[in-house]
Amino acid sequence: MTAKLIDGKVVSAKIRGEIREAAEAFKAERKRAPGLAVVRVGEDPASIVYVRNKLRACEEVGFYSEPHILSEDVTTEEVIKVIESLNADPNIDGMLVQLPIPRHLDEKKILAAVSDDKDVDAFHTLDAGHLTLGDANVLPCTPAGIMEMLKHYDIEVAGKECVVVGRSNIVGRPMAALLLAADGTVTIAHSRTKDLGSVCRRADILVSAVGRAKVITADMVKEGAVVVDVGMNRNEEGKLCGDVDFDAVSEVASYITPVPGGVGPMTVTMLMKNTLIAAKNAAENN
Ligand code: NDP
Repeated sequence: MTAKLIDGKVVSAKIRGEIREAAEAFKAERKRAPGLAVVRVGEDPASIVYVRNKLRACEEVGFYSEPHILSEDVTTEEVIKVIESLNADPNIDGMLVQLPIPRHLDEKKILAAVSDDKDVDAFHTLDAGHLTLGDANVLPCTPAGIMEMLKHYDIEVAGKECVVVGRSNIVGRPMAALLLAADGTVTIAHSRTKDLGSVCRRADILVSAVGRAKVITADMVKEGAVVVDVGMNRNEEGKLCGDVDFDAVSEVASYITPVPGGVGPMTVTMLMKNTLIAAKNAAENN
């Protein structure tokens, strides 16, 4: 079998087109564009690229955007001060703090300072609670983007064996919650899972969010499975790659996401969607 490509760029372009139209309508009615602020601390090279992509996406869909670049040695209190001013700014509907932030900062305290209605990353404790209870208003961007891709390719989740490898708060856990909400039968695997291969081979839908190149090999994938690769790693030649041994797994899977061009663009697109939702909510409440 040669797997069909799940093309994150194609799905993204379609959704970004819809967001752009909605942003134009919002602007015509409210005399302002939806606004996103991005806070970056320090000069982490990957963060610089991610923030740039997010600001470019804002431009593409017609949002107002505001980068706040803080120096590496900033204090927790200083970061919180910036967040509080953005919380109070009526032109800012959503904000995010690009992770990772320097180790001396209190990440929990900083993320908690983002007001719930502007938390477009949906990392708040409150958001995690809503997600678990199945009544969330905004969804964490990466797992939400994956669900959109599955929908676009008519990949049914209900009744399927779903295995999520990774249990982080930003990818693995919310991914499992969304698959469960879509009536999948969900297993979460992690670094302490015994015999990862046999757990993965159960999967009709396999999502890998580990952060290690080639952790998912062809012998771990059931014939015809749908394979979603969240990982963003560098291979021996320094090239961007996912967690999945793409060439070999493509011979076994029915569908597969590439890296780059799979989950990555969808994550940014869902951030735009969450900002639009936050802008509409803010407008309704005024
Ligand atoms: P974390 O490091 O927070 O989590 C990694 C998870 O993988 C942990 O739960 C860990 O288990 C598990 N793990 C580690 N090694 C193994 C192993 N050998 N076998 C099974 N499980 C293992 O990472 P994130 O969730 O933040 O990100 C995961 C990957 O996804 C990264 O490459 C990241 O760059 C990428 N990413 C991509 C995004 C995109 O838009 N494309 C967005 C966000 C992340 P344990 O809990 O036991 O330690």
